[in-house]
Amino acid sequence: MQDTKPQTIYLKDYTVPEYLIESVELTVILDELKTRVVSKLTIQKNPKSKVDNAALVLQGEGLELVSVAMDGVAFNEAQYKQSAESLSVDNVPQEQVFVLAIENTINPKSNTSLEGLYLSSTMLCTQCEAEGFRKITYFLDRPDVMTLFKTTLIGDKDKYPVLLSNGNKVAEGELQNNRHWVTWEDPFKKPCYLFALVAGQLECIEDTFTTMTGREISLQIFVESHDIDKCDHAMQSLKNSMQWDEEAYGREYDLDLYMIVAVGHFNMGAMENKGLNVFNTKFVLARPDTATDSDYEHIEGVIGHEYFHNWTGNRITCRDWFQLSLKEGFTVFRDQQFTGDQTSRAVKRIEDVKLLRVRQFAEDAGPLSHPIRPEAYIEINNFYTLTVYEKGAEVVRMIHTLLGEEDFRKGSDLYFQRHDGQAVTCEDFVNAMESASDIDLGLFKRWYSQAGTPVLEATERYNEQDKTLTLTLKQSCAATPGQATKGPVHIPVKLGLLATDGSVANICIDGFVSNEVILELIQEQQTFVFEQLDKKPVVSLLRGFSAPVVLNKQQSLEELAFLLSHDVDTFNRWDAGQKMCSQVIFGLIDNIQQGQALQLTPLLVDAFANVIQQSWDDLSYFSLLLSLPAENYLAGQMDVVDVVAIHQAREFVKKTLAEKLQEQFKELYQRYHKDESGLFDSGAIGRRRIKNICLSYLATLETEESYQLAGKQFSSAKNMTDQMAALSVIVESKNPAKVQSLESFYQQWKNEALVIDKWFTLQACSSAEDTFSTVQNLLKHPAFELTNPNRVRSLIGAFSQANQLHFNAENGQGYQLLADQVIALNSINPQVASRMVSALTQWKRFDADRQTLIKAELERIVNAENISKDVYEIASKSLL
Ligand SMILES: [Zn+2]
Repeated sequence: MQDTKPQTIYLKDYTVPEYLIESVELTVILDELKTRVVSKLTIQKNPKSKVDNAALVLQGEGLELVSVAMDGVAFNEAQYKQSAESLSVDNVPQEQVFVLAIENTINPKSNTSLEGLYLSSTMLCTQCEAEGFRKITYFLDRPDVMTLFKTTLIGDKDKYPVLLSNGNKVAEGELQNNRHWVTWEDPFKKPCYLFALVAGQLECIEDTFTTMTGREISLQIFVESHDIDKCDHAMQSLKNSMQWDEEAYGREYDLDLYMIVAVGHFNMGAMENKGLNVFNTKFVLARPDTATDSDYEHIEGVIGHEYFHNWTGNRITCRDWFQLSLKEGFTVFRDQQFTGDQTSRAVKRIEDVKLLRVRQFAEDAGPLSHPIRPEAYIEINNFYTLTVYEKGAEVVRMIHTLLGEEDFRKGSDLYFQRHDGQAVTCEDFVNAMESASDIDLGLFKRWYSQAGTPVLEATERYNEQDKTLTLTLKQSCAATPGQATKGPVHIPVKLGLLATDGSVANICIDGFVSNEVILELIQEQQTFVFEQLDKKPVVSLLRGFSAPVVLNKQQSLEELAFLLSHDVDTFNRWDAGQKMCSQVIFGLIDNIQQGQALQLTPLLVDAFANVIQQSWDDLSYFSLLLSLPAENYLAGQMDVVDVVAIHQAREFVKKTLAEKLQEQFKELYQRYHKDESGLFDSGAIGRRRIKNICLSYLATLETEESYQLAGKQFSSAKNMTDQMAALSVIVESKNPAKVQSLESFYQQWKNEALVIDKWFTLQACSSAEDTFSTVQNLLKHPAFELTNPNRVRSLIGAFSQANQLHFNAENGQGYQLLADQVIALNSINPQVASRMVSALTQWKRFDADRQTLIKAELERIVNAENISKDVYEIASKSLL
């Protein structure tokens, strides 16, 4: 709640904590309406602090204080000060350690913000990152205060038979009145954001993992009883993650027990609390008939991500929240490598770049643009962004590219060795990488402080006489809020050359010869000369998307078609197809805007036919080559976004391709349509992907035959991938079975929350004309609830962020609907509400009429009563 203007916190104001909490003994007496927390803090002055006799200020929010005592002597009210956000004590001992005992109560049931201790169904659980621990008890709630935790949980034996916290279980016992207790001790010091407790009627599956030094770790996954048959994949993913981290980074797990709990109400994806990960059910539960292939892959990726945090986040944590990318950028990079190794490196790279280019580039170009290490924030929850996570991972990836595999591993080993048990900065990480190699990363550090996406202009000139190709690269970066001018950054540009017959051409530069080089761009403009080229080669630039930049290079459709059929770099090969499609679609958009008839160039049809003709081992990759660029990706490349023309032009291309290549699509569909529902190897997943993309092309034909094909797949599917794929083409088409199919799907799955989320999303994303009224009706559906973040994301989030066409309807009704929901959500869950505002932040990219409409809604949000600082920060900064 806000009565004064929310305060901004700056990185430049960082000072070390004046006090440290060596250890804490927590006793939590659980009750859904009134939980009692007794906390004994062993505190001492921080030897590194230069401030003497500072007041001890502990953070706390929404707590009912019962008592305070120091070294066993109770305080009277004059001996401490209490505000809405803190508890402070003057005159605490400076020379010796002292114990502060605090007792307070909290109400988990009324806590709909889902931060601190809260109720999800009948289970009590916590979420403390970033600043949720202060909603449990008073503490020095900052990541550079690392403490030993001993936690005793007391609860009713029937309501809370399972009592979990971090570390190892050291004691348990029974009490009167049908109560019991369990004590947990975590031998590793940690910041309080990594604290967790869970209490409830949970069942678990168990397994073990033997580490590289032969220690046996017990693994447990806890869920509500009706989900116990959906945990096997998560368990296998955990074992795969543990194995991979030992092989790839030499990291071994450190406790004897690793627990994961799946929770239905959760703001984020998952949380890496030490030894006790708390997960959104979405990233744990999977059974072939309820989860898609993509769900299976995401689960493995997120389980890996949280597991990898044990070293990159928990053992070595962030000094302050400005350093969030230290743990997130590195850990996302690690989980990307892991998923690439488990599935397909080519496909994983493309999927990651798609997300980056559509969502992070938009963030970088918008009013909330910030560097991966921000300089200021009002509410840290707002900085769990794609920039900090995804661009942060790209920055680590560039270090990996510059150093090479071997030195990068040396650098990470050195980082773990130097900083284990510490709270450090992004700079410490880069310094370790620099020390382990002979690469100067001085200029590279600018990636941490400079916001915005650099633009790379590439021009080439071939000299027949000298047999040389001269490549000029020029970098620039547009101004972003608070950063008017930008300096050059250190950009690794991976490059290959192709001879005119499609074979790999030798690269001769500065006396070296190779098949592939990494050019290091460190100035605003640099020129590179390649020698001994008898004929003009075709340049394959920025291979593997070696830097998070926009690459501008003139390329004809013919040249792109050549790269699509010959490039050995899987990323650039796919990207050549995307560029080709984009160029064609932008030509058609011009035609639409000028009222001209549409015609598809045979070059594109031939390119697709050529892709289909070749034989592919990686069928998931093949399916990506057949996918058209998404509408929001195309929008990102337009100065003034025309959502209607984008949709029309793209649909025209899709339908024309379907007409021209009908026989090929049908043949592929039949070839790969097999019943192998229980199979989740990459072969089976690839076969489903190819088949389903063919189905989506054929569906655009709107023929009786195509309706039957989709209808048959929908009713006979034994796995969610096939069922969902069929339902989505039915919903997108004019198929007469649409209403009935949606209803039967709902009836089939109404007891599976995660499947019903999909049902909401599918309808919210539809391009069908009646989608807006469908969304309005779904908001009143009995299965919709604003208190469940997954439901909110599946309907409101999907409509506003993934339905570009209808959300941006020119009458403004989409914007109005979103603002209404944000205002309603603000008082329930500010963190989720502020995430929903993001769809309104891109208003400058639209025409004047839409700009006016969006700004009016942002103003309505800013001026709403009791606006949270989460929502206030995003909405008010968007208006600047
Ligand atoms: Zn993370």
